[in-house]
Order: sequence, then C-alpha cells, then structure tokens
Amino acid sequence: MFENTVFGRLDQKLQHAIKDAGYETPTPIQEKAIPYLLDGRDLIGCAQTGTGKTAAFMLPILNHLVRERKPRRIGHPRALVLSPTRELAVQTAENVKRYSKYAQLPFACLIGGVSQHGQVKDVKKGAETVVACPGRLIDLMNQGILYLDQVECFVLDEADRMLDMGFLPDIKRIISKLPKSRQSLFFSATMPPPVLKLAGELVHDPASVTISPETPTVEKINQKVMFVAKSQKDALLAHLLEQHPEWNRVIVFTKMRHGADRVVKKLSRAGINCAAIHSDKTQGQRTRALDGFRRGDVRVLVATDIASRGIDVPDISCVVNMELPLETESYVHRIGRTARAGESGAAISFVTYEERGQLKAIERLIRKSIPVDRDHPFEAQPDLPQPAWVAPARSGQNNKGGGHGPHGKRRRKSFAGRRQVDFGQKGGGRR
Ligand code: AMP
Repeated sequence: MFENTVFGRLDQKLQHAIKDAGYETPTPIQEKAIPYLLDGRDLIGCAQTGTGKTAAFMLPILNHLVRERKPRRIGHPRALVLSPTRELAVQTAENVKRYSKYAQLPFACLIGGVSQHGQVKDVKKGAETVVACPGRLIDLMNQGILYLDQVECFVLDEADRMLDMGFLPDIKRIISKLPKSRQSLFFSATMPPPVLKLAGELVHDPASVTISPETPTVEKINQKVMFVAKSQKDALLAHLLEQHPEWNRVIVFTKMRHGADRVVKKLSRAGINCAAIHSDKTQGQRTRALDGFRRGDVRVLVATDIASRGIDVPDISCVVNMELPLETESYVHRIGRTARAGESGAAISFVTYEERGQLKAIERLIRKSIPVDRDHPFEAQPDLPQPAWVAPARSGQNNKGGGHGPHGKRRRKSFAGRRQVDFGQKGGGRR
C-alpha cells in the first residue's frame, strides 16, 4: 500500500488505518524517526506538536505490540505515553484509537479532573497502551490498579512542558517503576539544559531527530504583526472578527487565565460565540469548549499556552496572539495550531511597544521578520513613550523634529528599526 515510504514497513492493519486517516505520505519527522524506532532504538526527538509527531512514535509502538503479541496481563500495560496536559493525552489517545482500529489493541487514557471509573474499567479490560498525565497515573499506581513493570515502550512527550509544569518529581517516580530493559522515547520542542539532563537519565544510546521550527508546516502560515496599544487590543480583535466573517474557527491566545476570561466576556457581549480553555476550567468545561469548537458552534476559542498544547482541530482559519508569549518557542506552538499537516493558515500577533523585545526574539528564532499589517483602524500608538518608541536614526536619517500626536505626518522608523511608519495616516490612536 505504501511500498515506497516508511509506512510500508508497518503491519498491514496499521497501514489500512493510516490510509483511512487520509495520510498519503509520511511527514519529515515520521520519515526520520520511524526507521529508528522500528529497529528498537531509543530516541530523542526535538519537534513541536503539529509536525505529525504522535504518529511518528505511536505507529512503531503499535507495530511492536501487533507483531509481538503476548498474553494480556490486566493492569500491566506494555506501552506508556506520558503527556503534560489532559488535552494532549486525550488527543494522543484518539490517535491510538484511530491507528489501532484494525489491530484490536485495547488502550486507556488516564487523566485527572474526571471520574476514574471509566478509566479503571479500560485498564481492567486489559489496556496494552496507556496514555496518561502524571497525576492520575500515580494515583492509580498507588491504588494498586496499575503497574509499570511490563512496560516495553515508554514515551515522555513534551518534556519541556512537563518540567515547566513542575512534574519532574512525578516523572522521576514513574521512571523508577519502569523496567530497566525498555525502549524509551523522549520528545521536547525545546532542549534547554534541564530538559537535556532529564533526557540523559532516560534514554540509552539514542538516535536523535530534530525538526526545526521553520519546517514547511510553519512556513505555510501567513504571519502578520499588528501594532496596537494594549487598551485597544480587544477592540481590534472584535474588528477583525467582524471584517472576516469567513473565519469560522479562530484561536485566540492570551498569556494569563484572567485575560482569557476577559476576552470571552467582551466577545460574548459583542454576540460572538466563544469559550475559554485554561487550567482553571474543569475537565468537563474544557471538553465541552473543544467539542463545540470542533463542531463549529464555538467560533472563537480563547486559550492560554498550557491549554493549547493538545488542541488538534483541523480547519482553523486564524490564530490571534493577543499578547506575545513569554517563552519564544511558544510562538511556534501557538501558530502551529493553524496550518496543521500541510494546510495553510493565518497567524496575527497584536504587538505593543512593550512587547517589541519579544517580537525581535521570535523573529530571531524563526529567522525571518514578520510582515507588519497596518490595514486596521487601531494602528499608531501615541500613548507610548516617544523617545524609546522612535528608534535611533541610522546615519543620514533625520529622526528629529517635533511632536508625536495622532495628526503628525512624519516618516519614522518603527520600533523594529526597519520599517517606515507614517503615524496619523490611518486615523488611529487613542479613542
Ligand atoms: P501531531 O503533530 O501528532 O499533533 O499531528 C498533527 C496533525 O497532522 C494531526 O491532525 C495528524 O492527524 C496529522 N498527520 C500526522 N501525520 C500525517 C501524515 N503523514 N499525513 C497527513 N496528516 C498527518
């Protein structure tokens, strides 16, 4: 079926499922990682969600389970995937279900925030694969429901996020219960020293695969920056949603939970169907919001970074960054929600004067400057501190000369120091 690709090395049952999923060719990470994993190697993968990473690790694992069948032992899974967030765990489990539909490999998804009843039932049915968040997993281990002594394949997914969320002690505890002889896979979007240290403790003679942020997936995204004062961001968002009725699935990112709630309140007042997902929401609320978004009932999903990791919804028209993320790499994660696996998408970042440093860092990371879109009524920021806002002139450029009011028509350099701005032309400014 897939003779000329790495998919062709997988069991027929998996190939059928891949075909049903509509995959025609492997993504770069799948192309690179699957051969190592089929050979039983440990792996360190530096890749973000949105690259096809889940299939890259799940398909070889399922292949192993199908080809090397063993009598089922209740409560002793053979494969364990650890995810930092409930959304990501659910998403991964959905993929396990999708890929194993002809292979009859029972699985369980263990996440907190919901009753453990159904999850325990799945474990007792003989789940061979367990996808779990650390908290619920440890809970079930403590209750004597689940044991890790038969785990043959272990995946630590989004390790950087795990550490950010303070899961290191839990992870160490979980690793200590795994058998010494196993295949270990370690995935992280970024590899700062603490993450590398953890990787070193987990994997043995690993192959390594890096899919850099500027993979074609991200390059296909039409990225824009809109300069706007903080006080005008909500108005700009409402304006864009009104201007673009064709955007039927929009994700809006905020830095903080209360910011997400504020945006939802404002948009709801403007009659726009929206919902927030962040860590203060119950699992039920998050699931309802995501389901509504998938169905198209919820037009705008407002999310914080942590909640965003597991969002895998096709046909997202646009990602809006109300604020730039504190962590530069999160920018790539955020905009990766659109243009999933080869589609094209748009990503707009609202940037204030204070955020210009973050913008520069992001541009350095993605190695290109993001075009500025001035075609909106909230451009120009006369409330910004003038001396810093007006970048120092390069030699020969006259950067002196007077006021900074909304009606001044002067040629200035923008704060990114590379564009000419014509303040006052657009009728912007504080209103
Ligand atoms: P992930 O990075 O695992 O979150 O995957 C991102 C999206 O790409 C998911 O919707 C997958 O179903 C999809 N996907 C994964 N592999 C392929 C492929 N080879 N061809 C097309 N879509 C894929």
